[in-house]
Amino acid sequence: MERREFIQTAVAAGLGLPSGPSEIEQAARKVGRLPRRKLGNSAREISVLVGAGDWAPEAVEAGILSGINFWHGADEWQRTPQAILQNREAHYCQISVDRVRGNHETGQIDEEAHYQFLKQAAKRTGLRYFDDMQFHFGYHSVAELKKNRAFIRAFERLKKEGLVRHLCLSQHSYDGNSRVPGGQSAAEILTAVVQDGLYEHAQFLYSYGEDAATNEFVALAKRKGFGTIAMKTARGAGRMAQDRDFMKGFPAGTTPYHALARWLTTRTQLDAAVIRINSLSQFVDTYSGAGKELRAADSQAIRRMTAYADQEVCRLCNQCMSHCPQRLPIADILRYERYAADYGDTARARRLYAQLEKQADSCIACSTCLSYCPQRLRIPDKLAATHRLLG
Ligand code: SF4
Ligand code: SF4
Repeated sequence: MERREFIQTAVAAGLGLPSGPSEIEQAARKVGRLPRRKLGNSAREISVLVGAGDWAPEAVEAGILSGINFWHGADEWQRTPQAILQNREAHYCQISVDRVRGNHETGQIDEEAHYQFLKQAAKRTGLRYFDDMQFHFGYHSVAELKKNRAFIRAFERLKKEGLVRHLCLSQHSYDGNSRVPGGQSAAEILTAVVQDGLYEHAQFLYSYGEDAATNEFVALAKRKGFGTIAMKTARGAGRMAQDRDFMKGFPAGTTPYHALARWLTTRTQLDAAVIRINSLSQFVDTYSGAGKELRAADSQAIRRMTAYADQEVCRLCNQCMSHCPQRLPIADILRYERYAADYGDTARARRLYAQLEKQADSCIACSTCLSYCPQRLRIPDKLAATHRLLG
């Protein structure tokens, strides 16, 4: 990317003047070359940590220099990086496609709308085609996967026209979601997706802390050659880094994001992961851990982070939701809290929160949900605090 264009991009994104190219190059040198792994059984090798379309432009630039070659949410770029446009075949660019006429719970899967959306995005971004067409949020249940093939039909039409190459999805959990009757867990749906054999890889929630069902799915995916990319991996790491008391006792020589990167890329069976970052310095801190073994300090850090997250951070499992007499979208509300508290993206969190049919101030503090939360989170208190932050 030319310096002039780089500055324009950063200013347009409201990020102020970016660091000079030498800082970018220095950042890339500190991170080094990221190792790559096969994505499932495909012939494609991708960096063990992938990049995202919502990163700051200077972090994208440094990521390219460090060998990141898979970009999640590439349709979010306001100006597609020149370095990618000029070397298009060296990068795998993924587009996230949402349900239409509603949100991820109420919206519909619509072949023609998805087809048109992707076609326009390929033109708008200048990318010409997307490598990976991702069904954002995924299916509500196994029955929906089997019966509703509209997303797959849209993909097949686009593939024939050379506008997409690979089919994938990001899968959330819908079990216990009172607004999605018959909803099932991400692990149940993903297991059926692997058996169905049409999708090539998936993104799903994965972070430190025990989650036996997801680990079982990851092991199955490995056996079957189905690709796996973890998302929403920094479970509370952002707020931990800002919590002085927590950081006082943190092991020397590592940081929450650095330990997370080492853990994700060496101690799990995942093919790759995405870690949300928002600056060049965070890129260096985090991505310099990619593919490197956990040291004693990192192991200790992960243990401390797990204990902290288990007390403070919702894991978006949905287990409380069907028991709420107010039918509150608890997991969505606490997901937006994570965007603000961990990613520092309060504007996005507020925008999404404003779109909810029911907000946290509808909580009547009846405490019914408490006993259903595996983490025993103080849900009514957290909802009230989130409403103060985002309402
Ligand atoms: S305390 Fe609030 S969130 Fe929990 S069940 Fe009662 S109304 Fe729903
Ligand atoms: S509040 Fe608890 S039960 Fe509800 S989604 Fe979060 S972690 Fe799961």
